[in-house]
Amino acid sequence: MPEKIGIIGLGLIGGSLSKAFDEAGFKIYGYDKSIESISSAVDFGRFEGLTDDMDEFLGFEPDLIYIAVPVKAGIEILHELGRKNIKTLITDACSTKMTVCSEARKLGLNFCGGHPIAGKEVSGFANSEAELLKGALHILTDGDEANMSVLKKLHEKIGMNVKVMNAEYHDEIFGVVSHFPHLISFALMELILKKDKNLLEYTGGGFKDFTRIAASDPVMWSDIFVDNSEHINDVIDEYISVLNDWKRQINKKEKSILMKKIRYVSSARQCLYENI
Ligand code: NAD
Repeated sequence: MPEKIGIIGLGLIGGSLSKAFDEAGFKIYGYDKSIESISSAVDFGRFEGLTDDMDEFLGFEPDLIYIAVPVKAGIEILHELGRKNIKTLITDACSTKMTVCSEARKLGLNFCGGHPIAGKEVSGFANSEAELLKGALHILTDGDEANMSVLKKLHEKIGMNVKVMNAEYHDEIFGVVSHFPHLISFALMELILKKDKNLLEYTGGGFKDFTRIAASDPVMWSDIFVDNSEHINDVIDEYISVLNDWKRQINKKEKSILMKKIRYVSSARQCLYENI
């Protein structure tokens, strides 16, 4: 089990991980290119070392390097660690896994992919909290058995439930249940803004629930869409076909079919979070 955890990227996820690791008794170190993020982390007052310089960060000699930056920046950091021939165990929190894991493999890094299934539509260290991760799922992908076992225990120590799967399956699943819902939420906001932004004045609770995630970060989400484009494209096609069915049934006024479908999905949605 690592004792010194070095977190790269002190935003919502890196900050939440830092706070959770600190609470669990680990020594935490941080690196971020943004002075604003570093100064929020300084105010937190619990880091053993904080810097905006990679060499200084590596000089803290963490036993585990945890990358929590947007996907494209994460891949650049893997290349930097590869050039520096770093042998420390590395993991990440990026929302897509195939490219990240295959780049790490090509670079010969001691790497195991990760993705905490916890988040919010707001960014930055100021919004981070250890609570965000408690009880949440953490996915591990494409690591060797020994690294998987260390990272499983580590995430369980901060109250997370760990599941292991391969990176391809991860990107397929999260393309459907996470990336695509964000896409249609962004697209609905875009539609309204294109039609007439004054319509926003008339929105109610349903619209508020549906578009909460449309307030998410542009860098993070454009990276995810580009990186998982193949799976997201497949879901777009399937969704268009589902929407076309609804369109046809609405046009034909097939009330009994519509009721049957709504009853089916509505009861599935009602049961979904029953035990949470
Ligand atoms: P964030 O915008 O809150 O924080 C990102 C931090 O990384 C910022 O402090 C930024 O300055 C820093 N950063 C960016 N590029 C850097 C670089 N090259 N070097 C050093 N620091 C750099 O983002 P976040 O929500 O914490 O997301 C971080 C990662 O976690 C992303 O890969 C995202 O896909 C993943 N993730 C996010 C959520 C979520 O809901 N926000 C959930 C699960 C996973």
